[in-house]
Amino acid sequence: MTLGIIVAVIAVVLAVLLINALRVTTPHTDVAEAPAIVVDQTSAARRLAEAVRFKTVSPALPGQIDATAFLGLQNFLRSSFPQVHRALNLEVVNDYSLLYSWPGTERARKPILLMAHLDVVPAEPAAERDWIEPPFSGRISDGHIWGRGSIDDKCAVLGILEAVEHLVRAGVRPTRTVYLAFGHDEESRGHDGAERIAALLKSRGITLDYVLDEGMVIGERLLPGVSAPVALVGTAEKGWLTLELSAGDTGGHASMPPPHTAIGLLASAIHRLEAHPMPATLKPPVTDLLVAVTHAMPFLQRLVFANLWLFAPLVTRRLGATPASSAIVRTTTAVTVTQGGTRDNVLPKVATALVNFRILPGDTAASVVDWVRAVIGDPRITITLVKQEDPSPVSTTESPSFHALATTIHQVFPDVLVAPALAVVRTDSSHFVGLSDAIYRFRPLRLSAEGLTRIHGVNERVAVDAYTRVIEFYVQLLRNSAL
Ligand SMILES: [Zn+2]
Repeated sequence: MTLGIIVAVIAVVLAVLLINALRVTTPHTDVAEAPAIVVDQTSAARRLAEAVRFKTVSPALPGQIDATAFLGLQNFLRSSFPQVHRALNLEVVNDYSLLYSWPGTERARKPILLMAHLDVVPAEPAAERDWIEPPFSGRISDGHIWGRGSIDDKCAVLGILEAVEHLVRAGVRPTRTVYLAFGHDEESRGHDGAERIAALLKSRGITLDYVLDEGMVIGERLLPGVSAPVALVGTAEKGWLTLELSAGDTGGHASMPPPHTAIGLLASAIHRLEAHPMPATLKPPVTDLLVAVTHAMPFLQRLVFANLWLFAPLVTRRLGATPASSAIVRTTTAVTVTQGGTRDNVLPKVATALVNFRILPGDTAASVVDWVRAVIGDPRITITLVKQEDPSPVSTTESPSFHALATTIHQVFPDVLVAPALAVVRTDSSHFVGLSDAIYRFRPLRLSAEGLTRIHGVNERVAVDAYTRVIEFYVQLLRNSAL
């Protein structure tokens, strides 16, 4: 190739890069101003605080449920939201989960479903001293409602009920049926709660226009170069796989050991797995996220992100380098439990490890098992499947329901960007795959990186103002999509 041709090729590539970067336009987010919503902040905050005081800790086993706490919360909701309980039908599913239906006036319109969960994770006894307010005190101080569940997920349960109470009191009836589903065991995978509710709706032949559950929030400074807060709407969630690796040996006295004991064999399998993370790749909905925020980036970054045809390997490598962003570009591998050996002078007959994978959409449990087998490459290691759930499908963003959701976000939080995203945690909505093509995971709360650590951590709390926005969000979402 002559120098002239090389220069010409470089010029063309540069021109394409520039044109692509310049073609990125700011999306049109002019939305009609929402009619004012008058929320009685103080009493709403008091109700949420009281709900936090019911110690509805997710049962480790179905028999271990604290019935008094769950039934207490149920009764509290009945007495606190009289209009909801007058206008909506309530079915108690499997004793503790709640399914409300608010009948629509137009039968031709598909119903929608708003979800949240009643259970919470425990407050670690070891960390209890670190709580500024005791975890189940439900105190309101310093402008915040404190306690376990104030964010995850009672602010959504109560926020949805406050919104419906408000609309019923205003004499509103939805045109489409609105279901509200509150499971009681989301934190232990939802098999007795949300899964049973989904089965019930399925048995009635119901399909849903959209489902909205928890999952993601409005994040601040989560993406390089993007200073505006971004409302991340989970359009997919990762799957889940746990494998047990085990190595066996004849055992015997520790005075005459073989070169590798069962523990040694297992350790080297673990080492190989950690040294070979599954490959990082950029796919929807992560590519949709990047497309949605590229316009808000400084020019050089925009040049890179608008030209993923060239820079995808570079971007993937950067994202794959830190745990938080690595989780959105690959199926992750985490060795979580090991067991082996009983005494220091006895060779272990068996050693086992549990490895937890969070599966990226596009991979499957079967493809992960194949990868693990190939990477370990040692027939002395037995691989057994313990638990599996494939990743969810990716929900469309080209639907009226996504549009209504995005419009609502812009109306209630005028300064935020809206972007589809991948939820790396699993939610109860995974049980509703098959009932709707449009499952979204978004809790209308603005949280900093520090705020996010309070979820399942210490000092969980929600600002009274932020909680008011939650209520406004659900009122406006119902107006935009169901009235
Ligand atoms: Zn939750």
